Amino acid sequence: MATYEFKSESKRLLDLMIHSIYTHKEIFMRELISNANDALDKLYYLSLTDENVTFQKDDFYIRITADKDARTLTIEDRGIGMTQEELEENLGTIAKSGSFAFKNEAEQKDGVDIIGQFGVGFYSAFMVADQVTVKSRKFGSEDAFQWYSEGAEGYEITPCTLDHFGTIITLKLKENNDEENYDEFLNEYTIRNLVKKYSDYIKYPIKMLVTKQKLKETENKDKDAEPEYETYQEDETLNSMVPIWRRNKSELTEEDYNNFYKEKFFDFEDPLRVIHTSADGAVSYQALMFIPARPPFDYYTKEFKRGLSLYTNGVMIMDKCEDLLPDYFGFVRGLVDSADLSLNISREILQHDRQLKTIAAHLKKKIKNELLAMQKNEREKYEKFYEAFKRPLKFGMYDNYGAEKDFLVDLIMFYSSTEKKPVTLKEYIERMKEDQTYIYYACGETIEQIDHLPQTEMVKEKGYEILYFVEDVDEFAIKILNKYMEKEFKSVSAADLNLEDETAKAAEAIAQEQNKDLLEAMKTALGDKVVNVKATSRLKSHPVCISSEGEISLEMEKTLNAMPQ
Ligand code: ADP
Ligand code: MG
Repeated sequence: MATYEFKSESKRLLDLMIHSIYTHKEIFMRELISNANDALDKLYYLSLTDENVTFQKDDFYIRITADKDARTLTIEDRGIGMTQEELEENLGTIAKSGSFAFKNEAEQKDGVDIIGQFGVGFYSAFMVADQVTVKSRKFGSEDAFQWYSEGAEGYEITPCTLDHFGTIITLKLKENNDEENYDEFLNEYTIRNLVKKYSDYIKYPIKMLVTKQKLKETENKDKDAEPEYETYQEDETLNSMVPIWRRNKSELTEEDYNNFYKEKFFDFEDPLRVIHTSADGAVSYQALMFIPARPPFDYYTKEFKRGLSLYTNGVMIMDKCEDLLPDYFGFVRGLVDSADLSLNISREILQHDRQLKTIAAHLKKKIKNELLAMQKNEREKYEKFYEAFKRPLKFGMYDNYGAEKDFLVDLIMFYSSTEKKPVTLKEYIERMKEDQTYIYYACGETIEQIDHLPQTEMVKEKGYEILYFVEDVDEFAIKILNKYMEKEFKSVSAADLNLEDETAKAAEAIAQEQNKDLLEAMKTALGDKVVNVKATSRLKSHPVCISSEGEISLEMEKTLNAMPQ
């Protein structure tokens, strides 16, 4: 027998699980079933790609067994199994998804958020069990090994016997106490509900022996006698096995989608929008995509990987396929299932795959149209979305020399001086005054600051709407557009604003002439900080303002100067 200590990080997560006060302890079931599913997927994949491995459909299943007397719950899968080394490696070291979350949230004390927000994987078993046994036999091997742990310090691995490859996980449930009832996880009813709630779409049957009743057959039928029942046991498949994305939209409720989303993408919030779509034709596919309510915690880091999961005929072939989503829609989570793809496809081949390119082009349009529909019909929701994801959209405008600017422009919004909320360029144009030539904008750090900018006074007095640019990317995104619906953009700080009427212009010329020496002296005093100092008639209540000449505005200049050289 070999005993091992948990790696220190694992120990901390484990500790968290053991002492968890988390109310959704039940998610341990979904985690273990999801692992069983992955193990089956791996074997299934092997059977499809390796001609030496052949399988019947019936060979793939998950079985749940509850033993009320022993107070054990067992989850068995006929999947790929684990070798001794893999048991050690996979269960002794905290898993990927979990560790990622843990590292980032390590400071949190009670762990409620960790469990709520992220997949916690295998160790969640310790929320309900104080002894966990994992027996496993790797596919193709004769040897089986048992991993056993009581949580605390470590685990032991011993050889064991298993007459079949796959994995059997046995949980010895914790004793009930005043607050917690662990026995409920032994109830058929509870188990059935948990499977339905979290794992219904799992495509392998999740079987359980369930107790049923039938009318007892008696020989001498006495009409008045009470009917007698007898109980018997029968195997039942608890899940419907159809992946949610292959089901008819009309059969699915918002809750179905939301549950699936939260489970699959480790979010604790419902998505803002669900996009369930399919195509039959030159390429056929089903896609299920979600617009999250807020960016994933690592979204703005370089660790973040965008992409949709890629399936062919219900088998996952790639976890995050980047080529299915443009950068600017990188926040979209979801999956695509297409029968037209080869299982053995590699990343390199995929990049050049015509089918995939067609699918990606469809999805891109679909996402945009859904967002536009949201903008039109559910404005508040769109504003929430936009607040969360405006940056990638604006970057997308000028990325690649503006290749996608026309595609994205209608999704972009800016705060409006007259509407006091974000508006689209189209809406701006619709409100433009008859004598108005330009789309006006003003740059600044905050909305309040721009509100008080002297440069906005003249434009506001004319009754023109001003778009406020408070992010460094804003002006760049607009500059690359050049025009929108034939209208050019003009910064309120531009020297050639030309809004003054003739008398004002004349007055300005006179003022310029009369104060020539003063202005000249000011220019000399300011040195190379300014190009020129001029009299202006554009100010109403402010004595001075700064303006820029030429293409580059003051704000752009600031941003460019701040960039590493
Ligand atoms: P994750 O599923 O996110 O990788 P888990 O903590 O749930 O993290 O599982 C850790 C690892 O243990 C898995 O990646 C897998 O390699 C292995 N594992 C867990 N359960 C099984 C199982 N039933 N069959 C085979 N391998 C498993
Ligand atoms: Mg897992």
